[in-house]
Amino acid sequence: MHRALALYSGGLDSLLSIIIVKQQGIDVIALKFLTGFTSPLKESDLKYSCQFGFEIKEIDIKEKFIEVLKNPEYGYGKNLNPCIDCKILMLREAKERLSEYNASFVITGEVLSQRPMSQKREFLTLIENKATLKGLILRPLSAKLLNPTKPEQEGVINREMLYDICGRTRKPQLDLAKKFGIEKPPQPAGGCLLTDPGFCKKVKDLMEHNELTVKNIELLKTGRHFRISEKCKAIAGRDEKENQVLLSNYHGTFIYPCDFKGPVVFLAGECSDKDIDMAASICVYYSKRKTLEVIIKTGSQEKRKTYDAITHDRIVKYRL
Ligand code: SF4
Repeated sequence: MHRALALYSGGLDSLLSIIIVKQQGIDVIALKFLTGFTSPLKESDLKYSCQFGFEIKEIDIKEKFIEVLKNPEYGYGKNLNPCIDCKILMLREAKERLSEYNASFVITGEVLSQRPMSQKREFLTLIENKATLKGLILRPLSAKLLNPTKPEQEGVINREMLYDICGRTRKPQLDLAKKFGIEKPPQPAGGCLLTDPGFCKKVKDLMEHNELTVKNIELLKTGRHFRISEKCKAIAGRDEKENQVLLSNYHGTFIYPCDFKGPVVFLAGECSDKDIDMAASICVYYSKRKTLEVIIKTGSQEKRKTYDAITHDRIVKYRL
């Protein structure tokens, strides 16, 4: 049996491309790349893998992705998404695994002209060349509009059973989802945080302060973030769950109200006394009090002090 590796984001387009190829009797292993900005495996992924009979392998490329993000050869999309370089990286990683998984080609859910840059015809070709996978990337949703790939030329894949979807419309994909029995179709792509302007503001701050690390990127997903000095950020939990995430996963200085009715504020980086004072006043602000006694805890050391809430204007100024 022939086998293909699929770039799998968990979005509808990559799922459809897998089903289309599976229908031709090809075994598919889905590669789910963990960049730090895409979601890890979800329950729905496991459900689809059972329903349509494909295996999913998670591949951690977070460290490599940071290097791409810092300096993408082909620049960023609308936000901080370096889509062309990201695709090249993922395809190179897939290529390295072809022999390990005894697979002969790669499939993607890309749709011609769906995205302004990375899915233009010339960029699909460029990505293919850069990944050194010429003729070995099958894009089942748009294949009939593209040059025949090697698996098509060699009769492994029947081109007639592929599609000619183009552009930003979602209707053909939703029709296919219905035809294939996909209940509640997922979003087109896997939900990359680098397409979210609010999240990108926080990523940009890390880049500007030379703090772009896997751990710091993970921390961006919890709480409200404030750049309070060049070397220090304050992160305030938005609810009890986030307070617990901060307390259990990070080490350093924490500030929280003595009566625990308010946020935990974590100080990330090197904090001065001035930073602690500001973080404490942020804690009072989000406790919805004008004045409050808080606990400042570093390791096993604790002290209590009363602070006034920071003003709204300063919250706006420091919030990322
Ligand atoms: S949206 Fe994110 S995951 Fe998708 S190609 Fe662009 S950078 Fe990569």
